[in-house]
Amino acid sequence: MTNLIFAHDDCRYHGDKRPREAADDTPPPAGYTHPEQPPRLRAVLDGLNASPALAAIERKDAAEADPARLKTLHGSAYVDAMLRPVAEGEIDWFDADTARTAGSPRAALLAAGGAIEAAERVMNGAANRVFVAARPPGHHAETNKAMGFCFFGNVALAAERALELGASRVAVLDFDVHHGNGTQALLWDNPDCLVVTSQQMPLWPGTGTVEERGAHDNVINIPIDPGTGSAAFIEAWQPALDRVDQLQPDLIVISAGFDAHADDPLAQLMVDEEGFADLTARIVTLAQAHSSSRVVSVLEGGYDLPALSRSVTAHATALFEGV
Ligand SMILES: [Zn+2]
Repeated sequence: MTNLIFAHDDCRYHGDKRPREAADDTPPPAGYTHPEQPPRLRAVLDGLNASPALAAIERKDAAEADPARLKTLHGSAYVDAMLRPVAEGEIDWFDADTARTAGSPRAALLAAGGAIEAAERVMNGAANRVFVAARPPGHHAETNKAMGFCFFGNVALAAERALELGASRVAVLDFDVHHGNGTQALLWDNPDCLVVTSQQMPLWPGTGTVEERGAHDNVINIPIDPGTGSAAFIEAWQPALDRVDQLQPDLIVISAGFDAHADDPLAQLMVDEEGFADLTARIVTLAQAHSSSRVVSVLEGGYDLPALSRSVTAHATALFEGV
């Protein structure tokens, strides 16, 4: 049994309209600033190399997802539109937050492909815990709608693939500071998936009230007040973790966003690295009890680069502990 990290260098070419050879790990020039920026990938990879134990974990390049698989949850015409080439130097905006550049179609396929292959690896017994360090993120993408920096529902696709490969029940746990509206929409009527998502409220996109419970009482929303710190954040999660304990899922999939961090510029929660480590450790304990230790964790948000790096180190250290 082994731990694994999926990543791909080409994920850094999404969201930078400079020619590919100029789009390195440096921030885009002034005048083009987007929080979901290419250097996030380097910050995450640095965080995954911050200790000898993490640096020793096996890495694999993510492979592109099969577009046909994306169409099992997303509309066919929508997937085709997202994968249409973008000319180098062009920027294709969908809304005020979400845009494609020349590198975007491949990066989006790699991010989805990494999450799906992670589910395959844990379900076929080749791995126990997998972290997918890829961008763009996915938890805001709905059936036919790109939004919030997201194109394809990476974690929903991973959960669905696990069910296909024999899992009876999958828990999807999203601790990104924003509502996982896309994951919720894609899995809303799937009785075999429990979706739990915590979000600062009020905050964009505005959804995620406790009344949103899924078609089969299979969605748990945890609205969190601005200013909440690690201890209260974890306390808010505990009833949902108890529900996961009762569910006894065959796999736990994490939407690992780190924008609930106190230093994050997009929200006002006050979670720190220890908070992410503590919540992750509780999730891992549930996986050890019920899920043959299987956890797939997929990167979502986190926009203060030093805090993102440190948070990834804390999360991954707890994730890969005690297989
Ligand atoms: Zn977020």
